[in-house]
Amino acid sequence: MIKVDFHVHTKYSSDASTRPKTIVSQLHMHPFIKAAAITDHNTVQGFHKVRELASAYKDILIIPGVEVSAVEGDLIILGLTELPPKPWTVENVIDFAKEREGLIVVPHPYRVYGLGDSARNHDVDAIEVLNGLTSRMYNRMAEKLARTMNLPGVAGSDAHTPDQLWTVYTEVQASQDVDDILNAVKKGLVRAASTEKS
Ligand SMILES: [Zn+2]
Repeated sequence: MIKVDFHVHTKYSSDASTRPKTIVSQLHMHPFIKAAAITDHNTVQGFHKVRELASAYKDILIIPGVEVSAVEGDLIILGLTELPPKPWTVENVIDFAKEREGLIVVPHPYRVYGLGDSARNHDVDAIEVLNGLTSRMYNRMAEKLARTMNLPGVAGSDAHTPDQLWTVYTEVQASQDVDDILNAVKKGLVRAASTEKS
């Protein structure tokens, strides 16, 4: 089993400040979260930087990702290192990801820039049921959405600053391998959890 933060921004997102170096050293030092998906807004530059730095450490894994600002709302694609061509409609982004076997996650469906109930109309792989920057109420609504769509629920901190890293994580029944992890998510071998004591 591996514990993954599936939603992390670097300073390559226009609204975030975390340096790739900080993500790598914090992940290396973390007692149990050992993998992170880098999901910058509309760029994979940060992912490449983080992965390069992380290659010096055997105990951590960096998963490629991007949070695409689609016209109707945000979508996260995991497992791909290229951006879809524009126009970024939800359908276009999903088609692009499917053709390349990327994993499609609907982040924070009920927060601003979320897809909301319209997520039901699309062929996505997972719902972000626990987002570190989203209220309890909206996270609960996301959980319900995942349940009624019969989709796996994943967790991600959505950290834009170093202090926001690793607030939540996903337990995945997989080894320390990107393909293994993404396949396990598709099969629903996941559990969303919080590092904060309630
Ligand atoms: Zn985000």
